[in-house]
Amino acid sequence: MNELHLPTVSAAPQRNKIGQRPDLVEQPDQLADMVSSWRELDFVCIDTEFMRSDTYFAELGLVQLSAGQNIVLVDPLVPGMNEALRPLLCDFELPKVLHAGSEDLQILAQYCGAPVNNVYDTQLAAALAGLGFSLAYGKLVAQLCQVELDKGQTRSDWKQRPLTDKQLQYAADDVIYLPEIYHYLDSRLTELGRSDWMRAECRNLVDNASITAEPEQAFNRVSRAWQLKGRSLLCLQRLAAWRERTAIARNRPRSWILKDKSLWQLAERMPASEDELSTIDEMSPGQIRRYGKDLLDVVAEAVQAAQQDIPDRLTEPAGKSYSQVSKKLRARVQATAKRLELAPEMLARKKDIDFMLATHANTGSLDLPVALKGWRYPVIGEALLDEFARHHSNNDSEN
Ligand SMILES: [Zn+2]
Repeated sequence: MNELHLPTVSAAPQRNKIGQRPDLVEQPDQLADMVSSWRELDFVCIDTEFMRSDTYFAELGLVQLSAGQNIVLVDPLVPGMNEALRPLLCDFELPKVLHAGSEDLQILAQYCGAPVNNVYDTQLAAALAGLGFSLAYGKLVAQLCQVELDKGQTRSDWKQRPLTDKQLQYAADDVIYLPEIYHYLDSRLTELGRSDWMRAECRNLVDNASITAEPEQAFNRVSRAWQLKGRSLLCLQRLAAWRERTAIARNRPRSWILKDKSLWQLAERMPASEDELSTIDEMSPGQIRRYGKDLLDVVAEAVQAAQQDIPDRLTEPAGKSYSQVSKKLRARVQATAKRLELAPEMLARKKDIDFMLATHANTGSLDLPVALKGWRYPVIGEALLDEFARHHSNNDSEN
């Protein structure tokens, strides 16, 4: 059988019995007992409700679990709940099913003080099954369970107590349908022969959730950082690290401390006085009052730092001479995605192509981003390298 042949779609899962009133667990002992009885299950489903509008760290408001026949809502504000939950989350044997879990995983790891192991993300599974890229839970429930979910509580206050019945029912909905979605998608991926891809994607998701960003690396994420070089780049590195530490210490979003644009200008101009600070874009008098002295100190230190502290230039995006080959690569991704009935983003994203082009433009040699080296290598990575070699030598050799 041709391995690219797509089997007929299995029957969509049957709709779950809803209206089941979820249990709110407020006693760590009770949760610990439940957790030990669940560790024999084939899998559990998890979702969280959290808020992160005015803080650096997300504030966890509720943890929802679907385990066997139980729908359980855990109040994470009760002391000791994190310890009761930890054995479940860290268990290597028991799969934890989540939808679009990257943020939940980070928040749960932070909450429990240990990474979540053995994760199955239904958003990734849906993408690999060809149902669509980055599908929202509600869309997937509508498509596979023929149920329209109420989205009314998305922005409600998850830190208030008591939570309303509406909030609890909404929160429960977020895990009630996960078991059948999981069963459906998992068997679908088995039919398609894509279970290995799924395992690799989920492992990657877990790895990414456990990366704690070094403040010294924060400058890489400031927009247009690559335009700065030499001492200005060092200055940006120091300023971005300062902003990261300040945001953490004050538990405020980065942009509340200082905007990217201000950081970039400070690094470029390296001001030496408060008067000069007032000419920096998007810096308020309040920010100058609060942080002015610190900023001038950071800049002065960067100005006096040893030459060897200056970081290497960052990779510059590829220029216009690469636009032809860029089009060819994207067309190749589109064609392969169509043949496999997958969203193109699942094969290679724009940033993956940009990485290839920029690496070549900066170093003269060709390389693939990590994302295209695993299961994607035989599926698309290798073909992109070929395509690049062919078209770059034909069309762009004069550059
Ligand atoms: Zn939710």
